[in-house]
Amino acid sequence: MSTLAPPPSRDAVLEIRDLVKTFRRSSGLFGKKKAIHAVRGVSLDVRRGETLGIVGESGSGKSTMARMATRLHKPTEGSIFFNGRDLTSLRGSTLIEARRGMQMVFQDPLGCLDPRKPVISLVEEPLLVTGASKAERRRRVAEVLGAVGLDPAFYQRRAHELSGGQRQRVAIARAIALVPDLVVCDEPTSALDVTSQAHVLNLLLDMQSQNDLSMIFISHNLDVVRHMADRVAVMYRGQIVELAPADDLYERTTHPYTRCLISAIPIADPEAERARVPLSMKELAAEHPPLGSCPFDDRDCTPEEPYLHEVWPDHWVRCFPGLAHAAQQRPHRATPVSG
Ligand code: ADP
Ligand code: MG
Repeated sequence: MSTLAPPPSRDAVLEIRDLVKTFRRSSGLFGKKKAIHAVRGVSLDVRRGETLGIVGESGSGKSTMARMATRLHKPTEGSIFFNGRDLTSLRGSTLIEARRGMQMVFQDPLGCLDPRKPVISLVEEPLLVTGASKAERRRRVAEVLGAVGLDPAFYQRRAHELSGGQRQRVAIARAIALVPDLVVCDEPTSALDVTSQAHVLNLLLDMQSQNDLSMIFISHNLDVVRHMADRVAVMYRGQIVELAPADDLYERTTHPYTRCLISAIPIADPEAERARVPLSMKELAAEHPPLGSCPFDDRDCTPEEPYLHEVWPDHWVRCFPGLAHAAQQRPHRATPVSG
């Protein structure tokens, strides 16, 4: 099948359609506004109980996409459905209420943990709206803090008195306190040392399976995403270029950008690592069919509007000759250029 977007699945908890975000930023002496096309038409769904990984280099639009999906940012275009409800234009208290079933965990939890409050109050906070009694709330706080491995010795500490890993545990406890349907984790371990990173990743995996959560897990690290996700979406310059079940993405990597990303992963075995050759889009462009001919033999697909093709079941790849050739002419840049 080929199309501009994969069709939504019936058991989606979150469905986003054709999301676009264009920022306008002043540039130069005269403050002329420049358009930054951060997200350029992303359609995705998150199925109930799955972890959807999103991977791509810095600047590819992952965070902007996640912030639109949770309606922290309003999309420039497109729509968002959460549990079947259209969140796209909701505002104020209606939006807060509709969004209660989704939570975000950020790279730096300090930004969202009030420095004046002790851990126990930080985790209790989301429960205040539920009408639960104080005793019930405290029971739930103890339960979730126990689940993330923080014992009562931590309850009265403030965020700045905790290590990065402990802070991220508090952020996760806070996120799951209300038993959300969807947790969106944006580079949750990028600021942590390797040991804390492994602990937090395993904790998220446990939480996800025990509570049957749906999760979006964002990282620039493909290895981490493979460990965490059931399906993976690869973002490049504000678009999804490949979307597939995690193992399939590695075993049948098709889009040149995904091949570049995978070739950049260091290999633990020293001999294999010595033989590893990182690829560039420029080199890959040379292998691809000429601009304008779709490698999937689809007549409707054009370089201006490259289609996503279902090349194996549930494995989607955006047509790439146009992109690969553009990368050959215009050196690859980390920030998206205007479409
Ligand atoms: P990622 O999370 O993949 O690193 P982002 O979504 O943070 O990417 O950024 C995508 C692009 O949008 C980048 O070029 C970034 O500079 C730009 N961008 C992100 N947020 C803003 C903002 N609030 N104002 C202007 N530009 C932004
Ligand atoms: Mg980001």
